Amino acid sequence: MSCGIGFQVVARAGAARLGRLETAHGVIDTPTFMPVGTAATVKAMTPEGVAATGARILLGNTYHLMLRPGAARIAALGGLHRFMNWPHAILTDSGGFQVMSLAALRKITEQGVEFRSHLDGSRHLLTPERSVEIQRLLGADITMAFDECTPFPVEREQAAASMELSMRWAERSRAAFAERPGHGIFGIVQGGVHADLRRQSAARLVAIGFDGYAIGGLAIGEGQATTFAMIEATVPALPADRPRYLMGVGKPADIVGAVRRGVDMFDCVLPTRSGRTGQAFTRSGALNLRNARHADDPSPLDPDCRCPACTGFSRAYLHHLTKAGEILASMLLTAHNLTYYADLMAGLRAAIAAGRLEEFAFPGAGP
Ligand SMILES: [Zn+2]
Repeated sequence: MSCGIGFQVVARAGAARLGRLETAHGVIDTPTFMPVGTAATVKAMTPEGVAATGARILLGNTYHLMLRPGAARIAALGGLHRFMNWPHAILTDSGGFQVMSLAALRKITEQGVEFRSHLDGSRHLLTPERSVEIQRLLGADITMAFDECTPFPVEREQAAASMELSMRWAERSRAAFAERPGHGIFGIVQGGVHADLRRQSAARLVAIGFDGYAIGGLAIGEGQATTFAMIEATVPALPADRPRYLMGVGKPADIVGAVRRGVDMFDCVLPTRSGRTGQAFTRSGALNLRNARHADDPSPLDPDCRCPACTGFSRAYLHHLTKAGEILASMLLTAHNLTYYADLMAGLRAAIAAGRLEEFAFPGAGP
């Protein structure tokens, strides 16, 4: 295709798909996990280190980057890929979620969201058109439509009104998006925890026509069973030949369940944030490296892991670094957790390819 991003479904296992996502910055095998690179960096990691985990697409945050260092500055310096020296794909969020969770004095109107920066109190206006423009300045391979993340819990009428606003904003986002080869824009399904609203939202987005479809506003306290129920309500209403992205999810078990229900893309701060607080995802379950039981343990964190933390160091050393507050603790544990997530995704892809997803159980991923 001359425009947009390519997506091919290579194999299926039930509702799950093995796919290839083609962007201006490379091909990504799906299902895939996108590490979060909030401020033009995956915290505690070099770009080479991120790529070594197996990640080929990152998430960048529009809200953070527009405030500091500024989208125009990044554009003048060659775009986000060059600025952060990440040659692979980048998806940027729209800023909608973070303006709700971080900014002060928000005022939501039909036009957009007026807010004050959490950094210096400066005033800003984020609209669908401005969000798409910022994402173009950053050079995102995948742009996200600007939406309002419906809070939870919320009355049904408010969830419906919020979804309707997001759909009007989706239409404006799509209209503002400049078509470029290898670049695409995703719409975001909203509707809270109401299956009928989710289906309506999906139908509205499909009528507008997007390169891919995200499921937003979940994993914010509704519980895994409800998250899965909303995915099951939404996925059949989405085109089979376009990628599906579950935003902000999640724990390994959430990802496995969502892949089984037909989701192709994920992002979450969990592996990186946990790595900076001494938490590790391992094939024998989650571990807290601050715990004194690791102090004399010469064994590796996870003997089956290929990452630098597991191939070079003992649990005792990682415990020491964590207790001492050493920067290397964050670096090694983040590398480990991202490697765990990358290997989980590779395991899911192999299971779909082999047609044995039903019996798939990645060690430590939980039920
Ligand atoms: Zn490791």
